[in-house]
Amino acid sequence: MPTVRTSTPQFGSQSALREANSQRIVDAIRRHGALTQVEIAATTGLSQATVSTIVKQLLSQGLVDTRTTVRTGRRAQLVTLAQRTGLGVGIHVGQRALRVLIGDSGHDELSERLLPLPADHRADTTLDRAALLVVDLVEALGAELSEVVAAGVALPGAVDPGTGTIGGRGVLEGWEDVDVGEVLGRRLGIPIVVEKDATAAVIGETRFGAGRGCADVAFIRASYLVGAGLVVDGQVHRGRRGIAGEIGHVEVDPSGAICPCGSRGCLNTVVGAEALTDLLRMSRSGITLRALIGLAVEGDPGCRQVIADAGGAIGSVVAGLALAFDPQRIVVGGELAETGELLLGPLRDAVGRRVPLTGDHGVEVVRGELGPRAEVRGLVALAFDQAGSAATTSGTEESA
Ligand SMILES: [Zn+2]
Repeated sequence: MPTVRTSTPQFGSQSALREANSQRIVDAIRRHGALTQVEIAATTGLSQATVSTIVKQLLSQGLVDTRTTVRTGRRAQLVTLAQRTGLGVGIHVGQRALRVLIGDSGHDELSERLLPLPADHRADTTLDRAALLVVDLVEALGAELSEVVAAGVALPGAVDPGTGTIGGRGVLEGWEDVDVGEVLGRRLGIPIVVEKDATAAVIGETRFGAGRGCADVAFIRASYLVGAGLVVDGQVHRGRRGIAGEIGHVEVDPSGAICPCGSRGCLNTVVGAEALTDLLRMSRSGITLRALIGLAVEGDPGCRQVIADAGGAIGSVVAGLALAFDPQRIVVGGELAETGELLLGPLRDAVGRRVPLTGDHGVEVVRGELGPRAEVRGLVALAFDQAGSAATTSGTEESA
């Protein structure tokens, strides 16, 4: 990792200022990946003239590289970090799919694979498949596992930060007491960090997507179940037992059905995949969530109604969350967000009914920019963070 050397400059001198600005630019690229000079200026708050001067200097020092891209249809120069070190892996274990992404320290995405999973997939076979997939992808890149600095794994439910295991009952049958970090670490021989899916996604969206530049963000993951990932004052907030943001278990119907968690009338019993597809039992018996979403996008009135009502129900709970921690931006992702404003419109309206959340500086409700890849993008970033902090703790730059 390139670091801008400081030669103990005078505090407040021109050179100290230039070096501090250089470090800000390097940090911004390390955090967000390749950026154009305009994006660097927006992210760091420096003027474009200052960014241009410093980037020239960093190029001559060999600390950054540039390459040309045709992002958004126009040619632009991207600034990246020089001296790539190692690979990072993101493994997202979902309710119905397994997604693996391999990235490098410049946050470039090198290789990705998506595998469908059966509804009741078991921990041992799924983790086996994940390990094999990682080995395949790394080999296909012409690299070796020893070049992987760490892997981040996301699971669909609260993960206890102390143990790295799923904290709640009934989220993913048979996974409750599985030490995913230990199992995968043994298989792959690399450090593993385990995270809740919504937390992985909020890391992805705040680093690379719709939450960029915001210090306080809630990511609402509207999928087979609903959960939230939180960034508070620039830091990921997990809570003591990892259940911060578990809005799927907020009570919305005091006389409703019993949730797998044991409580009555949780939000998940109203907007979870089973509840949504069950609403269509009269017209479309046996429909899957994927089919429901597809039909809603195509304009089917019944399916649109289901999604809109879900947006309203989720929005009421999100309003409570927003009042509790006052985020600047609420980013909505997960499969249901693929319906766009069908979900977001009623969700935003429900948030807007809480007057303190509206006005000139009201909370923004936007769709995620990374789609189904928010989790793995966040996990690769988390893997490099983990490797970086491990290297700092052990006082060595070497990694196994
Ligand atoms: Zn519940």
